[in-house]
Amino acid sequence: MSDDIKKDEDDKEYEQVCYICRRPESVAGKMIHIPNNISICSDCMQKTLNSMDKMGGPFAGMPYMDFFASGQPPKHVEVPKSQRVKKKKAEKTENKQTEGIFDIRHLPAPHVIKKTLDEYVVGQEHAKKVMCVAVYNHYKRVLTDNGDDDVEIEKSNMLMIGPTGSGKTYMVKTLAKILQVPLAITDATSLTEAGYIGDDVESVLSKLLAAADNDVEKAEHGIVFIDEIDKIAKKRNTNSRDVSGESVQQGMLKLLEGSEVEVPVGATSKNAMVPLTTVNTRNILFICGGAFPELEKVIKNRLMKQSSIGFMGQLGDEFDQDKNILQKVTTEDLREFGMIPEFLGRLPVVFALQAMTEEMMKKVLTQPKNAIIKQYQKLLALDEVDLHFDDGAIAAIAKKAIEKKTGARALRAIIEEFMLDIMYEIPKDDLIGKVTITEDYIEKKGTPLIEMRESGEAHLLTSGHTIV
Ligand code: ADP
Repeated sequence: MSDDIKKDEDDKEYEQVCYICRRPESVAGKMIHIPNNISICSDCMQKTLNSMDKMGGPFAGMPYMDFFASGQPPKHVEVPKSQRVKKKKAEKTENKQTEGIFDIRHLPAPHVIKKTLDEYVVGQEHAKKVMCVAVYNHYKRVLTDNGDDDVEIEKSNMLMIGPTGSGKTYMVKTLAKILQVPLAITDATSLTEAGYIGDDVESVLSKLLAAADNDVEKAEHGIVFIDEIDKIAKKRNTNSRDVSGESVQQGMLKLLEGSEVEVPVGATSKNAMVPLTTVNTRNILFICGGAFPELEKVIKNRLMKQSSIGFMGQLGDEFDQDKNILQKVTTEDLREFGMIPEFLGRLPVVFALQAMTEEMMKKVLTQPKNAIIKQYQKLLALDEVDLHFDDGAIAAIAKKAIEKKTGARALRAIIEEFMLDIMYEIPKDDLIGKVTITEDYIEKKGTPLIEMRESGEAHLLTSGHTIV
């Protein structure tokens, strides 16, 4: 196929954009074409003709329309690909079923989704189960949504509570990958910083649109993950009135519930030259996540109040010991924490993740399909070197990671620190056949065990190849 024909074929998939108002065809209506591949919507054309009458001269005061006055067609301006919107596919007449994952017959059941999730995410059994059911219900709702049912299924937006590094973002990312839906990740704190809520709300949808290759229909079935949601809680126990967090929560209500939002395409803020398109958030799944520090205290206080006064001291200790107290969270606790009731009302699925334990850390290192150790093993296998971690080393890494208090996130940093030398030194010597990482090496008390290819004998690393 020649390049020109291919380009024409490509162009058919994208919407025409009005040269003047930058709205796409699906919003602005049919376009009028003028030379140099320029399209103008009928609104703008009409306005132009009206202004001609009023202003006494052809196109006076219409900056984009000088070309009519000059008699010269305007120079063609190519819209960059990142700013072009894909055309919506014609709606199917029988109930709105589309291909792939969005065909209800192919929508995997919760246990099937969980099985795949299990291959990547260690532990967090409760959270995984809740998420899989919620996601399943959500997409079932999306697929059967034909508007004429008596029973309307509620949107299953979620609120995940879990300490940092417990896998919140990772679970959402993995889920989006399994379901093959576009995902946008944003941070609730950025919503506060800009101070201009409208703009930021759209910016997350712009990201989603970009993740969906500017295909509005695909984006409307996507997932938006808003991290650090606890940072937009109303401040408690202060005398000063704090409205910033509250107003951001207010600003997000419409988005969570479902509304038509004008979204800039290929940019995160609106300006004159960026085309806009309309995205309906009704079928977008919103997942909010946060660490909610001190929420434990709120839960503990409530539980203490509920229990009989005589046992207060004893119960206090009991709750202090309870590592999974977050699992007992209720909407009242979150209200007490500073989330507004309307906001919570739009996130009906609330669940907590467990804090990482040493045992979980060990599994994160070795078990997932993309476990970090497996990744290094694969890299070294390309050099025909067998990389092995002994049990003591795995335990030592897990222990170090727990000390850092950043959850599983610490693991990568720890491993990268000592693997750098291995990855640098080992390929220098073709004769090395196997490297064993020992506890002593992790504790900086010794060196890794190196086995040469020919002899198969184990040598402790000596001055020949010193790895520091
Ligand atoms: P959070 O969003 O809760 O702060 P992340 O999802 O960013 O934490 O987790 C950081 C990294 O830790 C992830 O990229 C992932 O590699 C790893 N991780 C966290 N929890 C798990 C888990 N349960 N199973 C496997 N890997 C995990």
